[in-house]
Amino acid sequence: MINEKTLGELKNLLLEEKDKLEKELGLIAKKEDEGKDEYEAKFENIGRDEEDNAEEVEEYSNNLGITETLENKLKEVNGALNRMQNGTYGICENCENEEIPLERLRAYPSASTCLKCQK
Ligand SMILES: [Zn+2]
Repeated sequence: MINEKTLGELKNLLLEEKDKLEKELGLIAKKEDEGKDEYEAKFENIGRDEEDNAEEVEEYSNNLGITETLENKLKEVNGALNRMQNGTYGICENCENEEIPLERLRAYPSASTCLKCQK
């Protein structure tokens, strides 16, 4: 089992990560619903020229990809925070039995599977 002190440290890492991800997402996307982790990439209107339009579309499709990546990370982080609250943090979500090694959690606090299941 993970002791309280380590759990607190990992929680701080997760909250920092959450804060960072939400800030990054806020720049390129908007929240679909308050209280949910669904984001929609912003479509920015630069201008009416064909060149502007092409740029808008390109930027939008870039943002779509980044939004999705950040959104998935945010979901992982929030999932880990929920597991902390439920007292199931550090236990593999897949086999629900194996403990996730502490070194792995330190490197990747939102990890939800043990090494065996990850493979
Ligand atoms: Zn497992």
